[in-house]
Amino acid sequence: MKLLLVEDELEIQDFLKPSLADAGYEVDVANDGQAAEKLASAHVYDALIVDLGLPDQDGIDLILRLRKIGVASPVLILSARRSVDDRVAGLELGGDDYLTKPFALAELLARLRNLLKRNIAVSAGPTMLRVGDLELDLLRRRASRAGDLLNLSPQEFGLLEYLCRHAGRVVTRSMLLAEVWGMRIQPDTNVVDVHIYRLRGKVDSEGRVPLIKTLRGVGYVLETQEAATA
Ligand code: CA
Repeated sequence: MKLLLVEDELEIQDFLKPSLADAGYEVDVANDGQAAEKLASAHVYDALIVDLGLPDQDGIDLILRLRKIGVASPVLILSARRSVDDRVAGLELGGDDYLTKPFALAELLARLRNLLKRNIAVSAGPTMLRVGDLELDLLRRRASRAGDLLNLSPQEFGLLEYLCRHAGRVVTRSMLLAEVWGMRIQPDTNVVDVHIYRLRGKVDSEGRVPLIKTLRGVGYVLETQEAATA
């Protein structure tokens, strides 16, 4: 697994590079956005770790530009900014997960594993999506968990499909409003919360490992089952 670490703080570089190597990753380091863009357009990385406070540009702008030039690798954002707004902005603009500095190495490694696993977890055939024991038949619009058919409304199915396609990643309310409900503006509505509540009642019914997690003020994540049981 090959990673690109975009971080200007030497202290963090010196700590992360050997730690990630110990964990079995091959790591390239970029000190600024320009170097990162150069490396990311020349190599394919399994994941990027991007600090938002770079000397030459904002990390968010870098992520946006990388997405524009076709870099599709998952991005873990590192930032000293703690506000919920910053986290939401980072996730909506192309980041896949967010870690606030200071962080524990164990947490970074866990988030990274989760990001890297999601491609494997969602073993999508052309008409089937699978995340752990959750299975979605996209042709018949039917979902089941551990073989039990879930009785979902079309809206709930759409919501679950979106969560499955982004399994292991945080999705925000406005992402769901835009993608599932087609609402580009953010109306003052609790439609997402209501549907998540109902969906959770069906997907995570009693006795099952809960898969749909709430990140307060930020959004939701459909855990891959290994992560959920860990
Ligand atoms: Ca920095």
